[in-house]
Amino acid sequence: MGFPDAVLLWLEPEVWPLVAAVFGLAVGSFANVLIHRLPRQLPVAFPPSRCPACGARILACDNVPVLSWLWLRGRCRACRAPISPRYPAVELANALLWAGAAVHFGPTARGLFAFVLLTALLALALIDAELQLLPDRLTLPVTALALLATAIPGWPISPTEAALTAAGGWLAMAAVARAAERYYGEEALGQGDWKLTAMLGAALGWQSTLFAVFAGSLAGALVGGALLLSGRGGRRMKLPFGTFLCAGGVVALFFGEPIMAWYRGLLDPGGL
Ligand SMILES: [Zn+2]
Repeated sequence: MGFPDAVLLWLEPEVWPLVAAVFGLAVGSFANVLIHRLPRQLPVAFPPSRCPACGARILACDNVPVLSWLWLRGRCRACRAPISPRYPAVELANALLWAGAAVHFGPTARGLFAFVLLTALLALALIDAELQLLPDRLTLPVTALALLATAIPGWPISPTEAALTAAGGWLAMAAVARAAERYYGEEALGQGDWKLTAMLGAALGWQSTLFAVFAGSLAGALVGGALLLSGRGGRRMKLPFGTFLCAGGVVALFFGEPIMAWYRGLLDPGGL
């Protein structure tokens, strides 16, 4: 079988999600690098990964997603220091997200963009959960890519809608942040959250972005409420809003349009 035939086989509907899952594992490994290095202002491409405990370089054969971690039983080959199960978990999560996008969008430009968006959202969610920040080095390039992608023929979001939703999302979050700051006297929504909302706006269009913000806020309120009720976390605790917004963005990417259509049907039953 020649090279083009092999690639065409990959694009078959039964095979494409598997191909996406395998590449998703590898890119999930790269997401681990992003999650560690971006918020610490370290270069992404260089130097090669090292064990955080002993500084030994991680060999290529020990860098196979998930399998290496299982094979080494979650320990560094050199010093046997435990390696966090977060690494294989991120790789698996990215593979699952990519397989989902492959099923949902097929081998299309929208599907390839979904891969980029999902990996960015996964990385941003974990960085915000850990450090309460959302690096510009991730949100800004993905926003630019989302705006450029609207030039692709047949793209579901027009350039105008993407640009206006990005700007509107940023402004709306900035306004909410200002109001909350005046009311509570402390920063509630950082500028990273404004930029993340702009990124979602450019990538998803106004309806799905509205849904993502609503779903993210609701999830954040539910988790915050549950923590308060269970007595873990005081009134002053800070939840990473960006993490919930990223989760809302993932749900909106897959289900935003059908959910909004269903919601419009509820508002206007006669229109069905
Ligand atoms: Zn080590």
